[in-house]
Amino acid sequence: MSTESAIRTTTDANCIFCKIVAGQIPCHRLFEDGDAIAFLDIAPLADGHALLVPKAHAGRLEDLPPDVVGAVTASLGRVAAAVMKAVGAPGYNVLQNNGAVAGQVVPHVHFHIIPRSANDGLGFRWNAQQRAPEQLAALRSKIGEI
Ligand code: 5GP
Ligand code: ZN
Repeated sequence: MSTESAIRTTTDANCIFCKIVAGQIPCHRLFEDGDAIAFLDIAPLADGHALLVPKAHAGRLEDLPPDVVGAVTASLGRVAAAVMKAVGAPGYNVLQNNGAVAGQVVPHVHFHIIPRSANDGLGFRWNAQQRAPEQLAALRSKIGEI
């Protein structure tokens, strides 16, 4: 079995989202296909807050092969459109946390779909900083080819 095929069947017996994928823990399932499942977040930031989760266990986005990322994210817009319609929200945020420092609590890749409405009280912190052109150039050089 190739590495890319193998990860599609990877599970972690101690992982709460793997247990949801396996049907061992109930969820309010919204969508499911061969690669992903979407369900309502148990502690939503807003009505319709949903999670889109790969069926394969991987802790962080970069741990998933590109074709699996593609297959999972292909459903983001479809799930978002359905929850927006249901709750009457005109917009949504997609949030994907990697690492505890970024707010990740469940170490199984997931995309938050958070419906947004005017005056929903959620706010949006975007504390943009200033960088000189030479600072940006030095950083670009340090990153190298990807
Ligand atoms: P994170 O902070 O890791 O990006 O987000 C984890 C999310 O998973 C949280 O929004 C949390 O409410 C949700 N969550 C944690 N455990 C469960 C569960 O057992 N069922 C569901 N539906 N959501 C969960
Ligand atoms: Zn898992």
